[in-house]
Order: sequence, then C-alpha cells, then structure tokens
Amino acid sequence: MRDFSYLRATSADEARQAALQAGAALLAGGTTLLDLAKCGVVEPETVIDITHLSGLGGITVDESGATIGALARMGDVADHRDIRAAFPAVAESLSLAASAQLRNMATIGGNLLQRTRCPYFRDPGAFPACNKRNPGSGCSAIGGVTRNHAVLGTSDACIASNPGDLAVALVAFDAVVDLGTRKVAVDDFFLTPGDTPDRETVLQRGEMIVGIGIPASAAARHSTYLKVRDRQSYEFAAASAAVGIEFESDGRTVRDIRVALGGVATKPWRARAVEQALTGKILDAESVEKASRLAMEGAVSHGGNRYKIELAPRVVTRAILKMAQNIGVFA
Ligand SMILES: Cc1cc2nc3c(=O)[nH]c(=O)nc-3n(C[C@H](O)[C@H](O)[C@H](O)COP(=O)(O)OP(=O)(O)OC[C@H]3O[C@@H](n4cnc5c(N)ncnc54)[C@H](O)[C@@H]3O)c2cc1C
Ligand code: SF4
Repeated sequence: MRDFSYLRATSADEARQAALQAGAALLAGGTTLLDLAKCGVVEPETVIDITHLSGLGGITVDESGATIGALARMGDVADHRDIRAAFPAVAESLSLAASAQLRNMATIGGNLLQRTRCPYFRDPGAFPACNKRNPGSGCSAIGGVTRNHAVLGTSDACIASNPGDLAVALVAFDAVVDLGTRKVAVDDFFLTPGDTPDRETVLQRGEMIVGIGIPASAAARHSTYLKVRDRQSYEFAAASAAVGIEFESDGRTVRDIRVALGGVATKPWRARAVEQALTGKILDAESVEKASRLAMEGAVSHGGNRYKIELAPRVVTRAILKMAQNIGVFA
C-alpha cells in the first residue's frame, strides 16, 4: 500500500473541492477503499475523510417516501422500523449483505460505489490485463474462470458483475441518488461497461453522494429481496431478485409489479419485460414462470456463468410467488 496524505473534511463543500484533485478518494466506512488500496487496485494520493460530516447520516420516512443520508450505516438502515415497514426489500437487501461487523461500519453511499468482485480485477500483480483497471489492456476473465461474472449488460471489454444488493432494491423502486447539486435516478446512475468499463457510474470528479431518496409506493410496501448464494451468509449473490407487487381491488389482478435482478448483470438490472408481461394479469405459477424467463432476454454466457441463465428466472419466480402468497393471493 502506497503512502497517502489524509484530510479530514469539515464540510461537504470542502470534501467536494478536495475531491477535484487527481488521485483523491473519499473515505466513508473504508470497507471497500482500504481493501482495494491493500491489493493495489486503487492508489490514492489523498484520502478525504467524510465520516465526521454532520447532516449526512439521517434516515427519515414519511408518506411520500424515504430519505437516507449517504453516511447512514447499512446496519442502521436494515434495522430501521419504518424502512422495514415501507420498503421491506430495501431492509432485506441490506441485512442479507456482508456481515454484521461490516454493516455496522459501511455506509449507504460507499455501498453504492463498491467495486466488482471479479478476481482478475482485484489481483493486479497476477493479472495485468483488465480493461476496468487499465483501459485497453484486455480482459483476463473472458476465456478464464467466470462463475461469478455477468450474463446481462456485458461487452467485449468487460463482463464483471455489479456485486451490490442494496442497489438492486433501489432500482426496482425508482430510487434517486442525491449528489447535492443534482439528482440522478439509480437506473441512470450506473453504467454498463461498453467500451469504457473503467466508468461505472455517472459520478464526476469532485461530486459526492449526499443521500438517496426512495418514493413510497404500494409495490415497495409489499416487497421482498431474495438472494441465492453459495453459502447462507457472508457471500455475494449468485443471483438475486427484488420484487414488489400491488394488486387491484379484486385482490388478484396485478396493478403494479417491480422486478430487478442482482448478481447477474454489469449494473443493478431492472427486468421491465417481466413487469410488462405480468401487469394487468392474474398470477398463477405457470404465467409467473413464463414471464420470469423474459428476465434473461439478451443474456450472454461465458462458460462457467452459464448456470445463471437458468438460475436467475427461478429466483424471480420464487420471489414473485412468495410475495403473492404473503399478500394472500394464493390463500
Ligand atoms: C468481505 C466482504 C463481504 C461483502 N459482502 C457484501 C454483500 O454480500 N453485499 C453487498 O452489497 N456488499 C457487500 N460487501 C461490500 C460492502 O457492502 C461495501 O464494502 C460497503 O458498503 C462500502 O461502504 P463503505 O462506507 O465502507 O465505503 P468506502 O470503502 O468508504 O468507500 C467505497 C467507495 O465509495 C467512495 N465513497 C464513499 N462514500 C462516498 C460518497 N458519499 N460519495 C462519493 N463517493 C463515496 C469511496 O471513495 C470509495 O471509492 C462486502 C464487503 C466485504 C469486505
Ligand atoms: S471482467 Fe472486467 S473487471 Fe474482470 S478482468 Fe475483465 S475487464 Fe477486468
């Protein structure tokens, strides 16, 4: 790990100003930044500590939705009574992420900006070729071990999956990232790799996340997050789904359904084709299973990640049927 200078910011403006310098990095919980600095993926010249800034750690929920400060801890959001009631999928996505120790340290802003778990990306000594780390150097994963890589939103330059859980729930419910000077829908905030996999979000140098906003909706209130992984705790998703459903007053016909996928795409992935296929329909196991397969439209596998094309629609089906059962549709 290289030496760096340390600045403890006293205001958001000071942090933004300092972050304009090349080689500057904001420090929140540090659970991603220090990890990447230790393995040589990032080598900041200046670390700007934002953990003591006031006013960025709040969590408020009212009838219009939730506002969560960038410095709110993952664990506090997961356990927040009103978030659990109005946005169960958001709370579940956080409580199923990482470990209790990490959730007590890590922040919501840092969580959105965590980096891929592609093993080639995280080992620059052994694998110099990585377009995300070093544009134009190639991709060591293509033709390599790809069990954890993406099948949706990939390009010839990069097939790394976005590992976050929270962002999947956020994209399902039209959440917005607040950058202080502008607001960006979560769906637009994350970028697919295309020819520039080094650019993962629309965040510009000198910008900082100050919070997120999640609009209230009946679908968000009746939602769940289902995560399938190689072991039942402390593991990233092989495939996950955030699902929320609102039924018409007959209690059977779908008025609004939200579906987003994690673990299988290069960014948190809204499955709009599944939503369109089920809106206005009465749900049964067969129609849900058929619609869930639409989630994989355009999927491309690279050897070891082929299983995700089978797995992800099953995760979506299970999540939708679980939600419908919870609401009492199949009672
Ligand atoms: C062993 C392990 C297991 C994990 N498992 C999971 C999992 O299952 N699911 C999951 O979703 N996550 C998982 N994570 C990732 C974890 O959730 C993230 O490391 C954490 O959320 C990052 O938050 P942080 O506050 O520590 O960020 P930091 O490490 O402080 O920052 C992360 C990045 O964001 C930037 N940054 C931080 N805050 C801001 C801001 N407000 N504005 C702009 N830039 C900012 C930093 O400069 C840095 O680049 C795991 C991590 C580890 C180490
Ligand atoms: S998949 Fe992306 S992150 Fe992984 S080695 Fe290839 S370019 Fe790098």
